Amino acid sequence: MAVDVKQGAATDGQRDGSTADQWVFMAEDAPATNRDLLGGKGAGLAAMTQAGLPVPPAFTITTAACNAFQAAGGQFPAGLWDQTLAALKHIEQKSGRVLGDAANPLLVSVRSGARESMPGMMDTVLNLGLNDETVNGLARLTNNERFAWDAYRRFAQMFGRIVLNVEGLDKAFDEAKKSAGVQQDTELNAEQLRGITQQLKRTVEAYTGKPFPTDVKAQLELAIKAVFSSWMGKRAVDYRNQFKIPHDLGTAVNVVTMVFGNMGDDSGTGVAFTRDPSTGAREIYGEFLPNAQGEDVVAGIRTPIKISGMRDLWPTVYHQFEEIAGRLEQTYKDAQDLEFTVERGKLYMLQTRNAKRTGKAAVVIAVQMVAEGLITKDEALRRIQPTHVQQILVPQFDPDSRKRAGAPIGKGLAASPGAAVGKIVFDPDRSATMAAAGEPVILTRKETSPDDFHGMAPAVGILTSRGGSSSHAAVVARQMGKPCIAGAEEIDIDVEGRKLTANGTTLHEGDWISLDGTTGEVFAGRLATSEPDLEQDRELATLLGWADDVHKIDVRANADTPAEATRARMLGATGIGLCRTEHMFREEGRPPFVQEMILNAPGARRGEPDARRAYNAALDKLEEFQLGDFYGILEAMDGLPVIIRLIDPPLHEFLPKHERLLVEVTEMRVRGQSGAELEEKEKLLQAVEALHEQNPMLGMRGCRLGIMFPEIVQMQARAIIGAAVRLKKEGKHPIPEIMVPLVGTRQEMQIEYDTLKQAVDQVFAQSGLEVDYKIGTMIELPRACLVADQLAEKAEFFSFGTNDLTQTTYGYSRDDAEGKFLGHYVEEAILPFNPFETIDPEGVGGLMRIAVERGRAARSDLEVGICGEHGGDPASVAFCNEIGLDYVSCAPGRVPIARLAAGQAAMGFTPSDR
Ligand code: PEP
Ligand code: MG
Repeated sequence: MAVDVKQGAATDGQRDGSTADQWVFMAEDAPATNRDLLGGKGAGLAAMTQAGLPVPPAFTITTAACNAFQAAGGQFPAGLWDQTLAALKHIEQKSGRVLGDAANPLLVSVRSGARESMPGMMDTVLNLGLNDETVNGLARLTNNERFAWDAYRRFAQMFGRIVLNVEGLDKAFDEAKKSAGVQQDTELNAEQLRGITQQLKRTVEAYTGKPFPTDVKAQLELAIKAVFSSWMGKRAVDYRNQFKIPHDLGTAVNVVTMVFGNMGDDSGTGVAFTRDPSTGAREIYGEFLPNAQGEDVVAGIRTPIKISGMRDLWPTVYHQFEEIAGRLEQTYKDAQDLEFTVERGKLYMLQTRNAKRTGKAAVVIAVQMVAEGLITKDEALRRIQPTHVQQILVPQFDPDSRKRAGAPIGKGLAASPGAAVGKIVFDPDRSATMAAAGEPVILTRKETSPDDFHGMAPAVGILTSRGGSSSHAAVVARQMGKPCIAGAEEIDIDVEGRKLTANGTTLHEGDWISLDGTTGEVFAGRLATSEPDLEQDRELATLLGWADDVHKIDVRANADTPAEATRARMLGATGIGLCRTEHMFREEGRPPFVQEMILNAPGARRGEPDARRAYNAALDKLEEFQLGDFYGILEAMDGLPVIIRLIDPPLHEFLPKHERLLVEVTEMRVRGQSGAELEEKEKLLQAVEALHEQNPMLGMRGCRLGIMFPEIVQMQARAIIGAAVRLKKEGKHPIPEIMVPLVGTRQEMQIEYDTLKQAVDQVFAQSGLEVDYKIGTMIELPRACLVADQLAEKAEFFSFGTNDLTQTTYGYSRDDAEGKFLGHYVEEAILPFNPFETIDPEGVGGLMRIAVERGRAARSDLEVGICGEHGGDPASVAFCNEIGLDYVSCAPGRVPIARLAAGQAAMGFTPSDR
């Protein structure tokens, strides 16, 4: 390079003799791979220039200069301006034109460009270098007066608006067009454009109190400062907050020789992707606007034509473009997003960067590029983010429909992804009835409880105004693969009044509502959705197959029904890590027997002669139901392990609510009613009162139930093993594992083990056939982690219940914390993230490490996994891989995401690496 851009630094006279930082790089010798320093656009310009592609002469002022400018309160750092002038001289030499030369003027664009693309968030100025003299030079040089005045008009308008912050210029131009009687700017002639330009300059002067700057160097300095300042503009700051882009990256400024797409019918400008960014199809996809500058495309002033239109118009230019697009893909080994201009038949490349794309396109492009030999399978896996897979798996709102819907009426936690559209219902019974009649319904509750299950199952989506990501609604919805928004606190749900109100909108039962479980947005009305076609998705299957090839940690699913198990298996689960049996107690026709069992359990009606008989009869009936349940699930997962957890929740959850019973009994008494019906209700009320606990989550639940009522868990164990024996007789290969919840002491494990073993042996003896099985425990209490060696004396497997383990380690209620303070904690960085979503590696994770180590020390072949909600969270999958778990278990819909995360973890990188 002939010009030393550091020359400015030398003349700057650094007294200590050291050279100043290099703030400015020519495109031909900038460090093209250093996107941190040059920003994406600068790095792309440098790479294209250095590859010999047709790029107009350009230089880049670094992001470090921007940071120094911000730190100095809006002053250029020492050496920057002189380096800029030196670089300018260089591009003047290359282009053979001079900035501000009335006879032979150079025009430049001054463009922002940060490391991360922030489309439209920062400023850019085009056609810089025009004034009342150079405009004439430009007219002579191009032999096109109209063009010269159009460029000056654009510059005055853009510089005024962006650099001098003058309002109303775009409107003034629209009005000028109107009074000239034209619709398109292309219809204005040179004389009209001259008049409009002078008018725009006068408006600027009136607004700022100073004449429009005619000194071209002053124009350049002001434009660079404006671009630097736009880094801290509100739009840019909000965008970075939204997409978690650090605020200290700074933007580079690219000064590029102007080439003109508006020089007539042999000129134009366009943007294109090397592959279709929404489907991944291998074809150039983009738009092109003849006789225009880039801003016309962005501003939507004229409607561009498809890029294929350029092929018909100028085949030679198109083929050159196609060839360059291919070369750039080869260079970057990824799909590119390109900007280009054609000036009088000559193609110029102005930008290349990795294209943003949908999840579908990301997977398709990665798989295609492996087939093309461009990237390795590892690299393909590395490029796919969990959100890409998630997008493919769930229905989404059609983008046009989403746009038309406008602002959401409310927002909550994106608890279970996907788009759901249905009619609002406020109670589970009505949900079940309407759904049975074929209506799509959205169950809308303040929060859901296990009692609502029958209304949740048939709903197409679930909305709650309370609760967090491990609330009942969220857990159940994810497991069922239904979209759910939880904790939408700004929505006032009036169940009694059968209406909801949010930000001034009131909707009634039966009104349409649309939920975006991927973003947490709630919309009034009916948005259109598009369905995924998973089984047809060959590329996703291929990619996940590669993840399976390298994985170390297996992926199982949490499933309670044969249908869920079948879906999980189809999605690639290699077992069931958690089947919560209590959900089966709530299925149609069963609650009366569950109630019978509870009301007659020893202790509840101790001393009553018929109680034991009623208790046993209820247990027999439930055993029959459970046998069918377990048969179905073991059959669906034939040949794969199925962990079935014994009853866990406090028993009162299976009985009617205390308040409701009290009201009913009181009303019956007030009415003077007596007899069997009242007696029954009173007995139920007494039982509910007897079961009442101040803190049921820390009370009579989990293994404590099995110890107090061994008959219940024995009934379950007989049903599990009975189903397995039956399947084995039919030639199948059931692999049942019986899991005890909430164990905290050696004695608890010992008692439960003996109780269960007795029931299992009874089935074996009766059937004359044995099956392989295991008895193990959930690890969901800190004490269980610390005495894991003692538990492993009996337990043949551990499964971390990280929902409860997080609750009991932090002492945060899993039902309430997210709605009350956790959101604030995360927003204010009191916690780095929500520990109910991602495992806290220090506290909860520290306990898990201890449990794995101590458990395996006592039993070397101990099988260890996780079945809390964290099992479907990629960062948590990476953690579980790191501490050597055998599997993660998650909701069926998250199985593909967990498979990807397991493959990525085995390759040694976590989601935060990307
Ligand atoms: C857990 O606590 O993590 C768990 C899986 O059990 P549940 O959510 O049913 O309490
Ligand atoms: Mg639990």
